[in-house]
Amino acid sequence: MSVENVLKSIQENNIEWVDFRFVDLAGRAHHISLPASAVDADTFVNGVAFDGSSIQGFRGIEESDMVMMPDPEATYVDPFTAHPTLNVMCDIFTPDGERYERDPRSIAVKAEAFLKESGVGTAAFFAPESEFFIFDDVRYESGTNSSSYYVDSEEASWNTNRKEEGGNLGFKVRTKGGYVPVAPVDTQQDIRSEMCRLLEEAGLSIERHHHEVATAGQAEINFRFDTLKKTADNLLVYKYIVHNTARQYGKVATFMPKPLFGDNGSGMHVHQSIFDGDSPLFYDKGGYANLSEMALHYIGGILYHAPALIALTNPSTNSFKRLVPGYEAPVNLVYSKGNRSAAVRIPVAAVTPKGCRIEFRTPDSTANPYLAFSAMLMAGLDGIKRKINPTELGYGPLDKNIYDLSDADKENIRSVPASLEEALDALAADHEFLTEGGVFTKEFIDNYINLKRDEAKAVAIRIHPHEYSLYFDC
Ligand code: GLN
Ligand code: MG
Ligand code: MG
Ligand code: MG
Repeated sequence: MSVENVLKSIQENNIEWVDFRFVDLAGRAHHISLPASAVDADTFVNGVAFDGSSIQGFRGIEESDMVMMPDPEATYVDPFTAHPTLNVMCDIFTPDGERYERDPRSIAVKAEAFLKESGVGTAAFFAPESEFFIFDDVRYESGTNSSSYYVDSEEASWNTNRKEEGGNLGFKVRTKGGYVPVAPVDTQQDIRSEMCRLLEEAGLSIERHHHEVATAGQAEINFRFDTLKKTADNLLVYKYIVHNTARQYGKVATFMPKPLFGDNGSGMHVHQSIFDGDSPLFYDKGGYANLSEMALHYIGGILYHAPALIALTNPSTNSFKRLVPGYEAPVNLVYSKGNRSAAVRIPVAAVTPKGCRIEFRTPDSTANPYLAFSAMLMAGLDGIKRKINPTELGYGPLDKNIYDLSDADKENIRSVPASLEEALDALAADHEFLTEGGVFTKEFIDNYINLKRDEAKAVAIRIHPHEYSLYFDC
């Protein structure tokens, strides 16, 4: 929408508040509301001031003034406010009128520009499958055995997410048995449908929703692919609507990658492809899984840089509790058609030339989508530039179930990092593919690594509930 049309729609929809939003390093949205009467064409030129020093990982107190620059192309009417409110996504600028180098959305803008300058294609498309749990309640306390979040799988399926004061409802999803059973086993059809209705109204195009594999109300909603920045914007709208619809139902939705020990975690597989205008550049009939050489090199870049990339696509300590064998989450750095135990899968069922794409299965929704999509694109572009052949480097293709391979066969297969610290070490050693063309700056990477190391340390020094079981009676 043009600025003029945004202002017109504020009038037509009797909007009372315009809510300006930006995203922090962790991918969380923040907002400041202005009365609609105070918003005019100048607001879109001058921006809206805020205090950058109060946002974790942003500026110091001595240089705290920052500006949100509203993007008229990224607006929707908030479905949850009692007072009609228009949400507007913003980029962050310094008071000098420069893009702020730590602004994740500005990095996405630069990554898209870099793709065009590289001459590889005109647009990269992304489609995330962001899984989440809907719980009845959540218990944060640790150190006792009273929380069902720490029990083993089978037991968890009978304890979690079930309030049975109204009578025993009988039908329960078994551990890893949640993949698409109908009601009454699936109790969340309506809440997912309501989420989808609100997402459609906010401008996303919904493709499907379903119960996911894990026991306790795990869900997935898929929306249509779009360009990099647009898809990251959509993912923020998605999380906002999922969280707040759950809240309206008296429940809580979480995108935490591994909330339940012993059952499937929540991933965010990311489908991606590059086009030149209308032409799909990843398709070549007759290639492996109908992939072009360019697509193979893109895969090569993703797998070669994966240990470092994962510091941005799986940026939490909890991320690495998901990346373990046996739960449909990838552990091994290989590519394969159809194989869901590979880090890169090439979907082959019902795929048209334009739908030809690769799926990177490692990411989860603790990733900041602007940073994660930009980093994946930069890794893929580096693979294309350097013609990184994933087969020659021993990254597959591997069409067997990797979990079932013998140890000898597994020996040559590389694994994802085992912890956030390992991923950060990899990023510290390998980040030139990200700083190409100034998309990420060295300063950004250093700051990011420091912040995340602090986070990992904060988790490591705390006492884990399982330590009581192991050591309390020593
Ligand atoms: N939940 C699985 C993961 O962690 C994926 C399951 C699926 O989509 N088939 O990646
Ligand atoms: Mg899916
Ligand atoms: Mg899924
Ligand atoms: Mg998938």
